[in-house]
Amino acid sequence: MKTIVLIGSGHAHLEVLKALTSEEIAKHKFILISPSRQTYYSGLVPRFISGEIEARNLTIDSADFAEAKGFKFIQDEAQSVDQINNSVSLKSGGKINFDLLSINVGGTPTKISSDAPFNTIYVRPFDEFMPKWREVQRICSACVNPRFVVVGGGAAAVEVAASLRIRLNRNQAKRSEVHLVSKGSRLCENYTEKISEQIKKSLLKSGIKIHLDEQVNHIFQKSLKLSQGENLEFDSIFIVTPTQPSKIFTGKADSKLRLSARVYAVGDGTEMAGHPNLPRSGVIAVHQGRHLVHNIRNSLIDLEPSDFKIKSKQLNILITGENSARLVWGNFSFEGKWPLRFKNWIDHRYMSSFRKV
Ligand SMILES: Cc1cc2nc3c(=O)[nH]c(=O)nc-3n(C[C@H](O)[C@H](O)[C@H](O)COP(=O)(O)OP(=O)(O)OC[C@H]3O[C@@H](n4cnc5c(N)ncnc54)[C@H](O)[C@@H]3O)c2cc1C
Repeated sequence: MKTIVLIGSGHAHLEVLKALTSEEIAKHKFILISPSRQTYYSGLVPRFISGEIEARNLTIDSADFAEAKGFKFIQDEAQSVDQINNSVSLKSGGKINFDLLSINVGGTPTKISSDAPFNTIYVRPFDEFMPKWREVQRICSACVNPRFVVVGGGAAAVEVAASLRIRLNRNQAKRSEVHLVSKGSRLCENYTEKISEQIKKSLLKSGIKIHLDEQVNHIFQKSLKLSQGENLEFDSIFIVTPTQPSKIFTGKADSKLRLSARVYAVGDGTEMAGHPNLPRSGVIAVHQGRHLVHNIRNSLIDLEPSDFKIKSKQLNILITGENSARLVWGNFSFEGKWPLRFKNWIDHRYMSSFRKV
């Protein structure tokens, strides 16, 4: 009997939990370590920000799901991984030995120095974002026309800005402001220039002010200084910049998603060797998770794991307005009501898949 330890219940490991059968799990000792019994599903966060759904609808009961399958769940945080002695050190002081390990802990946010820490809100990790969001709601009800700044230029930042705008429009805060500030010369730089431009136009149309080529190095007391000298004042500033790899291990995953013979690492917290520009996305983490199951099965019977193939096109759907979303599939892109309906259907189907064991 081998001990297989999964650290983190991120999108990739959720796929492992889904795919492994209770019979497979019973043959070994499977352990899941996570600081929380729930996992936030990022696909629904924009609808939460816009006020369409409640916090309780955002989470998957990942610990219950794992336990029902036969996993042992440990509510703790991994602090470091010893790849020589095959053990994991936990925040509580404990140590767990493993025969096989997989790490899926998400990325670490890049911190920006701030004179307004109370009003500076990091959207990742969601466990820290949620209590801060309550403060934003307080601001929303206290200020007639709140001013929000979103820092970042990727798909997540676009969705956060669009969702804040939707929320403020619903509150009829007509003179409220939402600014999107990005260091890039265009939004969503991993899409084609044409798609970036279309996204920009949609945001401008909905009243979001966009500031490109603006690197944010410091946040002043409720203001940002832009390169042309303009002072951008805000009530809350949201940081949605790309995350950095996790600090609990070193090294990059190889084409088989392995850091070493007994250790796999997947998701946003892991860099893949040879793919420095791999986008941080839930879709990719899910694809990795589906491949990871296959490689874990192989490793357990001493077969060589196989290469993970990155799909050339990923399906992305971004919320861009009250009743619209933009679907992006390689060079193809379309904005309207049906991408939004399609996204809601995908999200609903995904959440439902964790309600049955
Ligand atoms: C607002 C927003 C919207 C997004 N929308 C989309 C979308 O529509 N589609 C899409 O593809 N991507 C989307 N993304 C990106 C997506 O959220 C991430 O790419 C995805 O969550 C990465 O998943 P992951 O598997 O790396 O881990 P995560 O889902 O980040 O989960 C990591 C888990 O590890 C746990 N953990 C952390 N540290 C430790 C530790 N030390 N020990 C044990 N456990 C730990 C955490 O509690 C968490 O449960 C969005 C991002 C944001 C911010």
